[in-house]
Amino acid sequence: MNGECYFCRGIVLAGEADDLVLDRHGDHRVYVHRECAEGHGLVDEPTDEEGVAVTCPECGVAETH
Ligand SMILES: [Zn+2]
Ligand SMILES: [Zn+2]
Repeated sequence: MNGECYFCRGIVLAGEADDLVLDRHGDHRVYVHRECAEGHGLVDEPTDEEGVAVTCPECGVAETH
């Protein structure tokens, strides 16, 4: 399932490693390019192998990817 990036309105591909889909924390789904999220300071560097913490630009809840 694809969508538009929250920031740049470009297409986000759910299957791409560098594209992020935030959907585990609310009734909304937010698509962002990892590059765009990083540019807005929403991505925390990983502390282990679990992935990166991404803060949802809509509700402010962090999700781990
Ligand atoms: Zn983008
Ligand atoms: Zn959210």
